[in-house]
Amino acid sequence: MSSLRPSPIAPTVDFDRGGVQHGFLRLPHSRDDSAWGSVMIPICVIRNGKGPTALLTGGNHGDEYEGPLALYELARTLDPDQVSGTVIIVPAMNYPAFRAGTRTSPIDKGNMNRSFPGRPDGTVTQKIADYFQRELLPRADIVFDFHSGGKTLDFVPFCAAHTLPDKALEQKAFAAVAAFSAPFSMRMTEIDAIGMYDTAAEEMGKVFVTTELGGGGTSRAETVRIARRGILNVLRRAGIVAGAVETGKTQWLDMPSGDCFCFAEDDGMIETMIDLGEPVEAGVVLARIHSTGRTGVAPQDIRAKMSGMLAARHFPGLVKAGDCAAVVAVKVD
Ligand code: CA
Repeated sequence: MSSLRPSPIAPTVDFDRGGVQHGFLRLPHSRDDSAWGSVMIPICVIRNGKGPTALLTGGNHGDEYEGPLALYELARTLDPDQVSGTVIIVPAMNYPAFRAGTRTSPIDKGNMNRSFPGRPDGTVTQKIADYFQRELLPRADIVFDFHSGGKTLDFVPFCAAHTLPDKALEQKAFAAVAAFSAPFSMRMTEIDAIGMYDTAAEEMGKVFVTTELGGGGTSRAETVRIARRGILNVLRRAGIVAGAVETGKTQWLDMPSGDCFCFAEDDGMIETMIDLGEPVEAGVVLARIHSTGRTGVAPQDIRAKMSGMLAARHFPGLVKAGDCAAVVAVKVD
């Protein structure tokens, strides 16, 4: 647990003031190029009267762009007259990582989504996590954290929530996923949920919703449109933003067990044998890893452990042993 030491982060916004505020979470960071310098994490607070609070984040991983693209625009365009309650927007949560275009922070190599609950006296990444844990999450009724695959993964576009012991909370999260109306809606299983923002929010009893909208360290026109429409839908369904939810067709998916995940056991050049969204039969070759050190070596097959649909794949052309090579999900009605 965090000590009771106060956070070193000073917000330049007042969370209780009405209207629109564009400011910063200022985190002191003394370094070679700035002796008494700070990390300035952009934050926007849009508040109008009484109502629930939504906490919206992108850039938890710094090389994922649909969330920041949707959230910088939402901060710029959301009219407080359309709001009942409060919208707190942090479009680039791990701002040092976002500035560098990397998954983890260039300052301390911290992975924001493995740093919770954080520490007020820890690394820069741990200090940001601690501020979310103790200052921002407690204010929120609904927490929405955008993800995509980053430079090393690519996903079919989906909105997701987790199976939870608290079934009433789980139902609220999946209702928000349905409102988002991505082409796919996922009941998501994590490889290792320890230290995740998701887990921190859920353990606090918050409605937590996330996405995987694409990847490859870039964004596409379609996935950014999905992000922009989806987040407004979630805010409308929560009664925070006026207007009707624009529903669209969604295919529900499940990740029923760890057999969803296929990991590379060799280094080499990866050949995708099935594309994203295509059906998968158990035992089929999803990808092959070609040895590149010499000619005459047969490729290693990566086979599906279950039937379903290819939901994610390794993105770069080269792969290392231990990399997540493919994720299979099951279609459900
Ligand atoms: Ca991510």
